[in-house]
Amino acid sequence: MSILRMTALGAAFAAAISLAGAGPAGHGIDLAGIDHSVAAGDDFFDYANGAWIKNVKIPPDRANYGVGAMLVEKTNAQVRGLIRDAAKGNPPPGSDAQKVGDYYASFMDEAGIEAKRLSPLKPEMDRIAAIKDSKTLSAYLGTTLRADVDALNSTNLYTDHIFGVWITQAFGDPSRNVPYLLQGGLGMPDRDYYLVQSPKMAAIRAKYQAHIAAMLKFAGVADADAKAARILALETKIATSHTSRADSEDVHKANNPWTRNEFAKRAPGMDWNAYLQSAGLGSQQDFVVWQPSAITGISALVASQPVGLWKDYLTFHLLDHYASVLPKAFVDESFSFYGTTLSGTPKIRDCWKRAISATNAALGQVVGKLYVARYFPPAAKAKIEALVKDLLVAYHARISHLAWMSPQTKAKALAKLATLRVGVGYPDKWRNYSALKVVRGDAFGNLWRAELFDYARSLAKLHEPVDRGEWVMDPQTVNAVNLPMANALNFPAAILQAPFFDANADEALNYGAIGATIGHEISHSFDDQGSQFDALGKLANWWTPADLAHFEAAGAKLAAQYDGYRPFPDLAVKGKQTLSENIADVAGLSATHDAYILSLHGKPAPVFKGLTGDQRFFLAFAQSWRNKVREAALRQQILTDGHAPAMYRGDTVRNLDAWYPAFAVKPGQKLYLAPSDRVQVW
Ligand SMILES: [Zn+2]
Repeated sequence: MSILRMTALGAAFAAAISLAGAGPAGHGIDLAGIDHSVAAGDDFFDYANGAWIKNVKIPPDRANYGVGAMLVEKTNAQVRGLIRDAAKGNPPPGSDAQKVGDYYASFMDEAGIEAKRLSPLKPEMDRIAAIKDSKTLSAYLGTTLRADVDALNSTNLYTDHIFGVWITQAFGDPSRNVPYLLQGGLGMPDRDYYLVQSPKMAAIRAKYQAHIAAMLKFAGVADADAKAARILALETKIATSHTSRADSEDVHKANNPWTRNEFAKRAPGMDWNAYLQSAGLGSQQDFVVWQPSAITGISALVASQPVGLWKDYLTFHLLDHYASVLPKAFVDESFSFYGTTLSGTPKIRDCWKRAISATNAALGQVVGKLYVARYFPPAAKAKIEALVKDLLVAYHARISHLAWMSPQTKAKALAKLATLRVGVGYPDKWRNYSALKVVRGDAFGNLWRAELFDYARSLAKLHEPVDRGEWVMDPQTVNAVNLPMANALNFPAAILQAPFFDANADEALNYGAIGATIGHEISHSFDDQGSQFDALGKLANWWTPADLAHFEAAGAKLAAQYDGYRPFPDLAVKGKQTLSENIADVAGLSATHDAYILSLHGKPAPVFKGLTGDQRFFLAFAQSWRNKVREAALRQQILTDGHAPAMYRGDTVRNLDAWYPAFAVKPGQKLYLAPSDRVQVW
């Protein structure tokens, strides 16, 4: 599980700002950002950030804005410098520098892309045109399978291809990799967009249908309006078969081993031999089907829906998927729907920013290697590793002293803590990109080959030993992640920088901000998901029924706490959908507070500008969630995201006893919880 949603790359994450770089005496808290007209006990997030929120404007090319977004901007600028330097001086063909430089330059070459019009898509359009029955349709659909989902690490459950595959160690056998098949096929982010009967969703659906029609018209497809209506109807059928986001996050509902021969019986309609053969999985015998209802439902639609309709659907999805490397009309139309309608963002990001995202997506670890060499000094790595050690000590103590956990469960939890692999900055072993060809002037071909390269790399894992040291995030990503089956954490270099982490800043800031992030990720190893996987990453619940009962009671209390947050009259935060993440927030903050106290070695914390150590610690935490968001983006997040919105994450403090005296919080205030209502998990 990542600390952030993947789709908003760092945008929801924020850190204390302004004075963090002020040297050893700097307390790192943004005093000017505090809103003293708000009582800390009524709305701590607003107290810590209200003045900043009143003054800041969300840039027109963003759905939200916070210090996390600033960090992303900073990292983008750093990466742009690296890419430009890489492109200088005619690097040899096939070198890292050539690939990075040419990928970026090709994406930026808008005139070249415009001149080619849709000719790069011609071979693929011809393949779609050649589909004539459900067998050739199945074979074609197999060619669209990509390794573009990741159910437990990045929790990326979305793919626009009808299915997505995630290749990682088997639930029951950590020594070998298997393919996990996930549902897909929707152009909108979730089944709710198709099925919820509200005026808001109906309006979005109407705009989506217009978007489909517009894309088809730009491509010269006849009868586009009628086809768009039928494509939306087909996707609505697909959505009906989809499993909800909350159910998709339940590994026990996902643990459905199917042998190859079972597909024809359990999911008739698709010609599975043709599908798997052309997906490169012809000889694979065992699979795990994450959402059986969707695999069965979509497979039936392959046979029951007209082949012509499927061809229209595939034509639209081809255009939609590759819009970023097609002529401007496609780029703008795609942004108008996905950026403006779905996220409320008025203006598209500059081409160079999109080019950096694209280069990062295609050549993540090539760029990452360059990034680390320039921006992540060994001293920073050592400092973070020391902080991680403190946190592990704090967790060890918390778990050892838990009154409710049975001795045998404690032993298993501590074994898991002892074998946890904490990756800091970058992977020990870099990925080999030699098989990926990047051609200057071929933006579409580069993206196409990069996706296939990634898919081939994933497929190869089926014949390789499990690598627990593999990273799922790139060093230049502003985010962090827990890999439950690998029992490992990744903290990319880009999140370990000022103003978020500063080796020279006051410890209260570093423990309150980056410490809480690291604590959040460690908590995932023991939470409702983490408890399903043992120290080796095998799916094996290591809790006793009594442990589970206590945890579920604590979880229910926390879910109710978040269900009570209502940013809109018609929409509340979903306590159950966000429960794992909220538990991680509470546990991470509690553990890092312990670690902070430990770091003081029994001495009282120094007072800076009248702020005590605890006050700075909690302010640093709440300011680390500093973020301002547009209404459409907030609605989308509440519907689709496993994380609560940033403002409520900042209010996590109400579950810690130490927060109450630090801000003189009294009964009757909005965030006040009686001691028995404060949720303590670890
Ligand atoms: Zn998380």
